[in-house]
Amino acid sequence: MFLDRDGVINRAIVREGKPFPPGSLDELEILDGVDESLRALKDAGFKLIVVTNQPDVARGTVSKTLVEDINRALQDALPLDSILSCFHDGADQCDCRKPKPGLLLAAAREWDIDLPASYMVGDRWRDVEAGRAAGCMTFFVDYQYDEKQPDAYDFRVGSLREAAQIILQRMEAT
Ligand SMILES: [Mg+2]
Ligand SMILES: [Zn+2]
Repeated sequence: MFLDRDGVINRAIVREGKPFPPGSLDELEILDGVDESLRALKDAGFKLIVVTNQPDVARGTVSKTLVEDINRALQDALPLDSILSCFHDGADQCDCRKPKPGLLLAAAREWDIDLPASYMVGDRWRDVEAGRAAGCMTFFVDYQYDEKQPDAYDFRVGSLREAAQIILQRMEAT
């Protein structure tokens, strides 16, 4: 399982219809159902890898320390295997900023993950496109943000909990 962070694991801060990461540890709020859903997916055999774009670090508006503090708090609270962050902005032309699949491909190599048997869950088009580029099944968590929408996805859901229910039902059915 590849999971976006802000808006999937923890609540995104929405301003003018667009989502932003928490601006402090005080603003960090794990969404309802995330803990149970992750535990159920882990029990079903999935590795749980968070892949997150944090371009505000390159833009100088958020410190890398804050991103890492939030990541550590999430890892302490939840059964995550890893959190991989891209700290770049578009101008950096890195391989890891979603919609590029670099973080997913690196994790797949490290953990020996079967990408076509994997899922990417995200709340923005970049997440969904990165999942598609890596060859995963994709879930779009649709909060109806006022921004570009993904071109295509396999499932549209309201939460990670809903995505987990669909995945676990599909596994039971086969
Ligand atoms: Mg997000
Ligand atoms: Zn990057």
